Amino acid sequence: MKIRSIKSVDVDNKKVLIRVDFNVPLENGQVSDDTRIKATLPTLQHLIDNRAKIIIITHLGRPEGKVVEELRLDPVAKKLAELLGKEVKKVNDCIGPEVESAIEELQPGHLLLLENVRFHAEETDNSEEFSKKLAALADLMVIDSFGTAHRAHASTYGAAKLLPTYGGFLIEKEIQALSQVMHDVERPLTIIMGGAKIETKIGIMRKFVSQADHFLVGGGLGNTFLAAEGFDVGESLYEEDKKAVAQEILLEAEALEDQFHIPTDVVVADEVKEDAKKLDIPAEDVMGDMKILDIGVNTIKKFEEVIAKSKTIVWNGPLGLFEMDAFSRGTRHIAIAVANSEAKTIIGGGDTIDAIKDFGIDLEKYDHVSTGGGAMLQFLEGEELPGIEVIREGN
Ligand code: ADP
Ligand code: MG
Repeated sequence: MKIRSIKSVDVDNKKVLIRVDFNVPLENGQVSDDTRIKATLPTLQHLIDNRAKIIIITHLGRPEGKVVEELRLDPVAKKLAELLGKEVKKVNDCIGPEVESAIEELQPGHLLLLENVRFHAEETDNSEEFSKKLAALADLMVIDSFGTAHRAHASTYGAAKLLPTYGGFLIEKEIQALSQVMHDVERPLTIIMGGAKIETKIGIMRKFVSQADHFLVGGGLGNTFLAAEGFDVGESLYEEDKKAVAQEILLEAEALEDQFHIPTDVVVADEVKEDAKKLDIPAEDVMGDMKILDIGVNTIKKFEEVIAKSKTIVWNGPLGLFEMDAFSRGTRHIAIAVANSEAKTIIGGGDTIDAIKDFGIDLEKYDHVSTGGGAMLQFLEGEELPGIEVIREGN
């Protein structure tokens, strides 16, 4: 796949609208983890060096179309300025007169950060009107956000369709690394999936089942499969209306023999707290008000065995409620096993990466750390992502 690279266009004195993913965690009004901001610095530096008038757009959190004071981008502007050692102006909206006059005043090589684009409901609706207003702000657009590439929103897709659009260095790197996995994958290929976003993950899984050699499933996603197998999952996190899809996946997997692993034992507690009384029990013994919060010790062993004989591993989604030490064992063991494996390892997902960082494991131990979760899986599954379609050569 060929991407129109940012290097192929003259940006001198041009108004460049760049879509980044600065959806960073905030604590006490400050950016508490700047990984995502740092990841875009090469592209921003290129635009600075080549004297573009840089207009940055991103979302932060889920304000759902309303102004949420805590989700304003002022702390992000401050952090970015610090990292670049350069002033970053910030406006209080992403369209309208204040924005237009700030852009009028913008000098080549200078930066302006627009307000959280999701303060407008039209963003996620991919409204045509709103896309036109965004596109009208600039001469050309750069996409450098892989985490949002599977979303056809106004700032990731609608506006990009209306302007000449190029890919930044971050998205280029993602596409290169992930394309390699897709095209000459070394087998056995093992996919590990967990987490809570069952709705977005289960559809992707279905498409993957026939492509992967092994599937290891845990977390809330695993609970949905246990329910689909007919087990009582007590009061665990799972999705009742995804049981049917899970059953279809299980049927298909059965035909493919012993390659699809859901937990055989689990860690349960009746309360979600650090000092809750917990038990490691066979999956079939779960009942009543028990909550499955981690994979059990036999499941960890089985998963480790599969990981050890894999040549390529793709992992997205924690295998338990890792935020609490009491339920982090499964995710920790799998994180270590994947880190130590000889296989080519690709990991993605905001929470998966947070878990690895929490455990103190060096991210360098993985071959590719994707800035996308859902986007990574959809890309690997061979689907055209809207946010990539707009920068693909020939489009
Ligand atoms: P990612 O961001 O890596 O794609 P998700 O956002 O899908 O992952 O899911 C991460 C969340 O899933 C974490 O907050 C974790 O605590 C939660 N989780 C995983 N397993 C369970 C479980 N068994 N019960 C409740 N929450 C779980
Ligand atoms: Mg997440």
